Amino acid sequence: MVILNTCHIREKAAEKTFSELGRLRRLKTEREAAGGQLIIAVAGCVAQAEGREILTRAPFVDLVVGPQAYHRLPELLARATRAGGGVLDTEFPIEPKFDQLPEAGAARGASAFLSVQEGCDKFCSFCVVPYTRGAEYSRPAGAILAEARRLVAAGAIELTLLGQNVNAYHGDGPDGAGWGLGRLIRAVADIDGLVRLRYTTSHPADMDEDLIAAHREVPQLMPFLHLPVQSGSDRVLEAMNRRHGTAAYVDLVRRLRDARPDLALSSDFIVGFPGESEEDFALTLALVETVGFAQAYSFKYSARPGTPAAGLADQVPEPVKMDRLARLQAAIGRTQHAFNQRSLGLRTTVLAERSGRQPGQLIGRSPYMQSVYFEAPADRLGSLVEVDVVGAYAISIAGRLVERAGRAKASSSKANSSKEGAIA
Ligand code: SAH
Ligand code: SF4
Repeated sequence: MVILNTCHIREKAAEKTFSELGRLRRLKTEREAAGGQLIIAVAGCVAQAEGREILTRAPFVDLVVGPQAYHRLPELLARATRAGGGVLDTEFPIEPKFDQLPEAGAARGASAFLSVQEGCDKFCSFCVVPYTRGAEYSRPAGAILAEARRLVAAGAIELTLLGQNVNAYHGDGPDGAGWGLGRLIRAVADIDGLVRLRYTTSHPADMDEDLIAAHREVPQLMPFLHLPVQSGSDRVLEAMNRRHGTAAYVDLVRRLRDARPDLALSSDFIVGFPGESEEDFALTLALVETVGFAQAYSFKYSARPGTPAAGLADQVPEPVKMDRLARLQAAIGRTQHAFNQRSLGLRTTVLAERSGRQPGQLIGRSPYMQSVYFEAPADRLGSLVEVDVVGAYAISIAGRLVERAGRAKASSSKANSSKEGAIA
């Protein structure tokens, strides 16, 4: 069985589904010719948005399953086998799937993700997420805490709380009160053995005072925040239905940095939104300089069927989009490099996550989400180590292992973070 887990956010991502399916069709034919079998399932947001079309265009697909129906996969598979294919499930069921999914069992490594929220009610005019993932839903805090404890018991020392719009989190607390994300973060941070905590992705309009205060007060909460802004032009932000202007974003960044002076910021940008002029784009470039992002993703606007922006006049020509994307990426590259340069000479903690390309090399993340490579024995994988930053490059930094430090897998974060150098 092959499951394609698909993304619908931009056209390019969605197109990959159909090219991959062409490849799988040949594999299926070969298997069947040899007397075997191959079940092909399409999952994820393309399945949700284009389920019927998939079954028409690619009738060899056995099963199409949307993100809200994964807990029904065994039953759907049985049905597809009986019926010889063509099964579709893209309902938004009433019962929350999280209660039906099996508990996380074996350790998934030192760094684990934990879904706390799904869906989005923001309806940015370019975005398919509210249609493919449905309305905002927050898991009850008790269930999240139980899963967090299981993950930590299974070996995780870093958790990333996940949601399409994670800081809109508003779950039922075990105390009967409604909990926001700040409250949830404090409770998760209290779990013994958890050293690092992160969350993603946030909307600027949902950053409340308690969450900002958590950046000041919770040492386990890492000094890095992905806070998509999309554009530096108020006119474009308005047309995007983003519910915030540039001044509000810059003020929010100021308040966050008051709370956590060394906070590293990341963002998402869209260039070539319908009607975006050269002046609008210049404001985006200016915002990149003002904030000084430690990293950021940038995309060419992609018209998505069914979204309000897709029908707007003034679509920006492809060559203009390409030109703006290149200029924006160069600007982001400069602020990212400058940020990395400022870490030169500092001692920092790295969670060693994987082996590097060179023998004896490990790669991990600094508190600021920088990719750090350094030489260390392989038995340090999955643990926190201390390194001195000896090189700073465009998208990574080089470290030298500080011997004997950080050998204890989950030593107290407070002890660790107080020794760390903060990026000024
Ligand atoms: N919930 C998050 C991000 C969701 S999608 C937020 O509010 O920011 C991730 C990123 O994809 C978005 O931040 C946006 O920059 C980009 N994106 C979404 N729809 C897009 C589209 N139609 N064209 C180009 N980029 C898009
Ligand atoms: Fe999409 Fe994010 Fe806007 Fe929601 S807040 S509609 S997920 S871009």
